[in-house]
Amino acid sequence: MDLRYTDAEQQFRAEMRSWLESALPALPPKPAMDDWLGRRAYDTHWQRMLFDAGYAGINWPKEFGGRGASPTEQLIFLEESERAHAPYVGVNFVGLLHAGPTLIAEASPEQQQQHLPGILKGDEVWCQGFSEPGAGSDLAALRTRAVRDGDDYVISGQKIWTSHAEVADWCELLVRTDTDVPKHRGITWLILPMDAPGIDVRPLRTIYGTAEFSEMFIDEVRVPVANRVGAENDGWRIAMVTFSFERGTAFVGEMLQTYELLDGLVETAKQSGAWSDAGIRRELGHLAADLDALSALIRRNVSQAARTGVPGVGGSVFKLHYSEMRHRLGDLAMRLVDRGGLSFRDKQVVGMVHALSLTIAAGTSQIQRNIVGERILGLPKG
Ligand SMILES: Cc1cc2nc3c(=O)[nH]c(=O)nc-3n(C[C@H](O)[C@H](O)[C@H](O)COP(=O)(O)OP(=O)(O)OC[C@H]3O[C@@H](n4cnc5c(N)ncnc54)[C@H](O)[C@@H]3O)c2cc1C
Repeated sequence: MDLRYTDAEQQFRAEMRSWLESALPALPPKPAMDDWLGRRAYDTHWQRMLFDAGYAGINWPKEFGGRGASPTEQLIFLEESERAHAPYVGVNFVGLLHAGPTLIAEASPEQQQQHLPGILKGDEVWCQGFSEPGAGSDLAALRTRAVRDGDDYVISGQKIWTSHAEVADWCELLVRTDTDVPKHRGITWLILPMDAPGIDVRPLRTIYGTAEFSEMFIDEVRVPVANRVGAENDGWRIAMVTFSFERGTAFVGEMLQTYELLDGLVETAKQSGAWSDAGIRRELGHLAADLDALSALIRRNVSQAARTGVPGVGGSVFKLHYSEMRHRLGDLAMRLVDRGGLSFRDKQVVGMVHALSLTIAAGTSQIQRNIVGERILGLPKG
């Protein structure tokens, strides 16, 4: 791997930096954490600004409206966004980082034309309807049923932990279309319009008091067969493509916030006097080294994704180490902010609580370990 920047890459950095300097002051104030309509408006407005400036879908291929940036340019984009404290993808997370890329890899040209421009412009917000009360780690056990009726599927069942379902227009939905075959072979990947009659979204309140995800009850909802991505019963394979993006590159933007949290923690340690403790400095140093190692791992995964079109299982290594590193960062933060740990107004405390969800979302640490053991190290199945 050559880590030096070419002249063209330096030029890209300079342009991006100067665009951010002019664009960011035009942003409206950030909405409150629990104002989801406000957050949708803010995040999609930023997405539109990126689109108009030619930065939307930085790593999406040009023929699908993206910038087709090289892995290095993609990293420069992230580094400059972090440096300027630019907004993160927010509610555009699913559409931009894994539903859109799955459509690029697997959908028909009609489906791509219908959805990809809207995702890039911030006109379409997506959510992910995979997990169910009885199907999380064992996702293939899902029971939400879709029965063919003419040109429609009629769908009934329940999804859970559907992030941003309240403000989403579309959902990447996994349904069971065959009950008579082994469970992985009877699943189909559908595009569900969230305004279809029969969908009841019930927000779940988290420990912060905001409702970032919901239960979704689906009662005889009709979805055209034309909304199916890939073949009927081939949904498990397509879900693996979605996961490869979700685990492979979707967490990359999170790293920006983590650098900020770590810098903030160093400041807190200096202000509180904890900095004089060599043990604390060592812990902060280890975390900084971990973050740098994770950045190098991202470069490797992103280069691999650029070569193959789909990220490999290296994403599981990143997700596992990153989420567990965030736990250690959160533990140290709670020791350093001391009584401030009682307040959800402290950024470090919010970061610590968020870290708790990272080892669960997009596949738990145990599941990632199974994947690393079986698919990378070639160990026998547990
Ligand atoms: C913040 C957040 C956002 C989310 N957003 C979405 C979303 O938008 N859409 C969506 O569909 N889902 C979403 N999820 C759900 C997430 O994918 C599931 O929570 C996750 O897959 C785990 O499933 P579960 O909660 O049912 O736990 P379970 O699968 O019941 O697991 C319970 C425990 O058992 C362990 N375990 C289970 N099986 C094994 C095994 N084979 N080997 C070793 N250990 C095992 C797990 O590691 C875990 O510790 C979200 C979750 C979080 C936390």
